[in-house]
Amino acid sequence: MRHTKIIEVLQSDSLGESYQIKGWVRAFRSNRFIILNDGSTINNLQCVVDYENTDKGILSKITIGAALSITGILKESQGAGQRVEIEVTDLEVLGEANPDEVKKTILSPKRHSLEKLREQAHLRVRTNTFGAVMRVRSKLSFAIHQYFQQKDFHYVNTPIITGSDAEGAGEMFSVTDFDFNNLPKTEEGKVDFKKDFFGKHTNLTVSGQLEAETYALGLGLVYTFGPTFRAENSNTTRHLAEFWMVEPEMAFYDLEDNMDLAEDFIKYVINYVLENCEDDLKFLEQRLTKVESQKPKNERSSMSLIEKLKFTTAKSFKRISYTEAIEILKNSKPNKKKKFNYIIEDWGADLQSEHERFLVEKHFKRPVIVYDYPSKIKAFYMRENEDGKTVRAMDILFPGIGEIVGGSQREERYEVLKQKMENLNIDEKELWWYLDTRKFGTCTHSGFGLGFERLVQFATGMTNIRDVIPYPRTPGHADF
Ligand code: ATP
Ligand code: MN
Repeated sequence: MRHTKIIEVLQSDSLGESYQIKGWVRAFRSNRFIILNDGSTINNLQCVVDYENTDKGILSKITIGAALSITGILKESQGAGQRVEIEVTDLEVLGEANPDEVKKTILSPKRHSLEKLREQAHLRVRTNTFGAVMRVRSKLSFAIHQYFQQKDFHYVNTPIITGSDAEGAGEMFSVTDFDFNNLPKTEEGKVDFKKDFFGKHTNLTVSGQLEAETYALGLGLVYTFGPTFRAENSNTTRHLAEFWMVEPEMAFYDLEDNMDLAEDFIKYVINYVLENCEDDLKFLEQRLTKVESQKPKNERSSMSLIEKLKFTTAKSFKRISYTEAIEILKNSKPNKKKKFNYIIEDWGADLQSEHERFLVEKHFKRPVIVYDYPSKIKAFYMRENEDGKTVRAMDILFPGIGEIVGGSQREERYEVLKQKMENLNIDEKELWWYLDTRKFGTCTHSGFGLGFERLVQFATGMTNIRDVIPYPRTPGHADF
């Protein structure tokens, strides 16, 4: 007999039917009620044992964390809290869990801080919160592929080990197979990378964009969805050293088209989880409401999680130029009262997360797209505007998160791109293949990068990015 997932049992109307279920014990009450979860849903299945007729040895092994196989009859439940339950006819303990040892872990039934849960990341997926977050993460991932596939985008896999030192998005991690205690040296005494595995110095990618661009200029519409790495020492609730990024790249799209696509895309995937993760979102909403109630009144969100998600998909995102954004920020209360950590004085300043959040949460009260940033604070590949000081860049800013998307129309003019690289001391020889695309049938094209974990944060209401990826990598932390 094949066992049935708990999500199916809970929806079943076949009262009187026999089912086999496998899962882990979440609680065992009054020697009678086994609360079982198998990961298929946030909801547990109550299985009732006839304890008088069950072997004492077996009963003693039904402990929190143990894996069980249960066969029983589906019954209408007498108790409140569930529609149906299983009356156990046969029970097998598949994997025991010693209660004295469980007590020392986060499986023990009491409140554990998120920090504590992180230290036991291999067990935290067995909690309600992490089960819910990881199911939503999985659905979002699927929705991303579905969105682009429905629009006839081609999924491309750009390299994770990159031969380029200048992808323009952040600090890089080296990849090598050198023996560090015996490094080959050149005559000048420098490390001789010619002797390294690839015959040159290589890195982990910070973005698949440059390679994706080359593919867009052949396949038309493409997207990547893969891991990226940044060796930046950012200890924030929004930065990981290893994170997943979605990067669509579109031939013949200008910045307008790019913004339209990004907005439509985000709304689609959020709608998808609203429709397909109802139970998990309800749980996460209650969780967030509890967290919010512990904050001072003026810091609390005025909307619940689900309200916030629905609101995001219903309203159009506010679009403003960088210049307009600076004007608003310059004249804002927190700027005048010197409440910002970084006071906005002049045009040209980079927007910090506090400014982004002010625009979104206080000023416009909805997602904001800022476009046409100063060239000086943006990457070399963005298309220069006619004003000679701004580029066709756009960032999408979200409540609680700040930047969720960074994108641009790409500089398609060979001479302009070459000049921009020169100004930034980027070696032409490094990116000869990238420059080639501007020589052979260059065209207007655009793309953006969406930080997947930041999207999961928004959808689940989790404050810390470390809690939306199974095994977070941050400065000083690469356990598991
Ligand atoms: P930030 O200013 O927030 O550091 P960025 O300008 O470095 O972002 P981009 O290089 O434009 O970001 O990367 C595209 C997207 O990837 C960002 O909009 C963000 O959602 C995400 N992202 C960037 N850095 C990280 C990181 N260290 N951890 C998680 N997500 C990130
Ligand atoms: Mn960054």
